[in-house]
Formats: sequence, C-alpha cells, structure tokens
Amino acid sequence: MLQNKSFLVTGGAGFIGSTLSKMLCPQNKVVIIDNLSTGNLKNLYPYSEHSNIKVIIDDVRYCHTLEQYIEQSDYVLHFAATLGVELAVLQPVELFMNNILSSERVIQLAAKHDKRLFLSSSSEIYGKQEKACLTESDISCIPQPERTRWIYSLSKISDEYIAYHYKRNGLKVIIGRYFNFIGTNQSAAYGMVVPKFIGQALSDNPLSVYGNGSQSRCFCHVNEGCLAIIKLINNFDKIAVLPGISFNIGCEQSITIDALARLIIELTGSKSLISYIHYNDLPSGFDEIACRTPDLSYIKEHTGWQAVGTLKDSLKNIIDEIRNN
Ligand code: UDP
Repeated sequence: MLQNKSFLVTGGAGFIGSTLSKMLCPQNKVVIIDNLSTGNLKNLYPYSEHSNIKVIIDDVRYCHTLEQYIEQSDYVLHFAATLGVELAVLQPVELFMNNILSSERVIQLAAKHDKRLFLSSSSEIYGKQEKACLTESDISCIPQPERTRWIYSLSKISDEYIAYHYKRNGLKVIIGRYFNFIGTNQSAAYGMVVPKFIGQALSDNPLSVYGNGSQSRCFCHVNEGCLAIIKLINNFDKIAVLPGISFNIGCEQSITIDALARLIIELTGSKSLISYIHYNDLPSGFDEIACRTPDLSYIKEHTGWQAVGTLKDSLKNIIDEIRNN
C-alpha cells in the first residue's frame, strides 16, 4: 500500500490529477505543479490547506524548480496537459506544443533521476478505430490533418513514443489510457459532453446533441479511474518491466449520446429539450468517433481492478454534488 511516499503530480489541480492527489495526500506527501490554465485550486478542496499538500503555481515547461521536485519524489505522476475536443479544434498548435514539450521535459527528468513515472494518455490515441472493443495492441487510425481534432491524439501518441524510447533505456514508466472519465470537478468549458449536458439540463436549456446522437461512449467515474491508477502504482515494479506498459482504464458499459441526454434530463428533472446539431454546423476541424469501448482484460490481469459503479449512479452522484455546491 502507498504510505509515507512522496509524489510529484503535474497538473494536480486539474480534474483527474486533483482527484488522485486527494486520494494520496492523507498518507503521503504530494507536491503539485499546475499553471491553473484548466485546473483550479478549488478542485483540491477539502485538502487545499492539508499539511501533506504543497501547490506550486507554475508551468511544467518553464518551472525552474521542476527538476528539484522530481529529484525529491519517489513517484512522478504526469497529468499536466491541454485537452478537450473544443480546444483541439480551436487552438491546435498551442495544444500540441504544450503537451509534447511538457511531457518530454518530465519524462527526460524522471529518467535522469531514475524515478518511477506514471504518464497520462488517452483513448483518443486509437483515433477513428472502428473495432467494437479496443485492446492496447490495436493500431491507431488517425485521419488526415485537416481535422485538427486529432492533434490531441497525436500529442498523446507522441508522449507514448517518447516514454517507450526512454523505457528501452531504463526508465520505469507506466501509461494510463483514460476512456471518457467523468466527475463533479470536470469543466464544461472545453466541450466534454457530460458536464456540458448537466449544465444545460440544470438551467433548462436545450441539450446540444451532435448528429443524431447514435454515437456511443463508455463513461467512467474519475474516482474509479483513480483507484485503477493507484493499483497500477501499487504494482509498479512488476508492471514496468512488461513489454506493454500502456493500460486502458475505463468502463465497458456503453451508452449512445442521445440516451445519455435523455438520462440526464430524467435525473435532473429538467424541462430541457434536445437540440440536434448537424455536424456541418460545428467548426470545420471537428470529427466524430462512432463508438469507443475499452477492452479491460490487461489491467484486470495485472491489478485485478475493474470498475464497479453504474453510469446512472455516477451521474446521480455528480448531479447531487453540483446541486449542493
Ligand atoms: N457531444 C455532443 N454534444 C456536445 C458535446 C459532445 O453530442 O455538446 C458528443 C460528441 O460528439 C461525442 C460525445 O458527445 O460523440 C463525447 O464527446 P466528448 O467531447 O465529451 O468526448 P470524446 O469525443 O473525446 O469522446
């Protein structure tokens, strides 16, 4: 079990990084570096002032003390990234450069100081794969570059390539590929569908379903996802020597976006209607994936982890927490 260890969490005020930092901090020392571009110190509540947490507001790319904090940590957990389909479409170059330069810096310093590194990746790396259920060894299908949505995928694939190169040269590294994590602190500002729909439903505005809503996703509560990450970290040395160190993390229960919209309207008791938005009316860099389901056998085999909650329970919990805040 993880106790009395020291962690450096980049992006630790972000949606996933803050959830994990809060789980680790009662028993461990956590240093967070976050530029608060998409993160928020409120995400660390009620642990913001906890004596085990130290927050440095700075950019991973330029932070002068990054190397010092990496040197002092037992584990480096890299979550800092620019993400969200809307940002990928609207600010592709900034997103790409920020992601790969931050990751390269963190990976290189973790290797230099022989630290265990956990790297955040994404189900986006599979691109427009049409397989029903995605396993870690499936190839990435990245469309032509006029669709800038895919630049986020490219940044995460690049991170993984860099990590595997350093792994061949001795770095102890594990990679998590997250499939549509959801939770209370997820921002609606960058296009993520669940916080966007909940916000629309709670204000009785129409829910903006893209296309006819027949596309599907598998949503995983961030608390469950972070328990998976902790299990991977708990088994670090055993897992880091495997040839494949990338792990799908998510839920297998799939739902169409139309059904998701209806479920959110039902759970919030909203008067909202559904507004179907034609793909031609979205910014030109947008692109859609028909479905995306993780095969979770690999993480189950190596950690025993599997998500237990249902989507309905997760949504109820998120809606309640938003209402009570
Ligand atoms: N989506 C939607 N309306 C929105 C935002 C998203 O219908 O206002 C759809 C989107 O087309 C996709 C799904 O919801 O099919 C998930 O979108 P998100 O951007 O959350 O994640 P990703 O596409 O990366 O899975």
